[in-house]
Amino acid sequence: MKSSRRTFLITSLGAASALALSRQALADAPLVSESDPTAAALGYKADASQVDKAKYPKYAAGQKCGNCQLYQGAPTTDHAACPMFGAKQVKAAGWCNAYTKKA
Ligand code: SF4
Repeated sequence: MKSSRRTFLITSLGAASALALSRQALADAPLVSESDPTAAALGYKADASQVDKAKYPKYAAGQKCGNCQLYQGAPTTDHAACPMFGAKQVKAAGWCNAYTKKA
C-alpha cells in the first residue's frame, strides 16, 4: 500500500513537472514567421492591419489573435501559442484565415 502511494506521488510529481516543462517550452517557443509555409497558406500577419483584405475578405477590423478562440494566452499577452502553428507562437495583434471569434 505504502509503495503504491509512493508510486502515485512520484508519478503525479513527474506529470506535474512534465506539464510545467512543456508550458515553459511553449513560453520559450519561437514566434512564427510570416514566411513560414503554414503562415503563408493561412495569410498570417503579425499585425492584423496588414492582412490582404482582398485575398482574405473574411477579415474584419477588430479581429486579432488575442480575441481568437484558438489563442492559448490571455488577450493581454504579447504573444502565445496557437494550435494552427504547432510549437510556434503568434502575436496577439496578429491574424490568420483560421480566425474564430472567442465565445
Ligand atoms: Fe491567430 Fe487564431 Fe489564426 Fe491562431 S487561428 S494565428 S490565434 S487568428
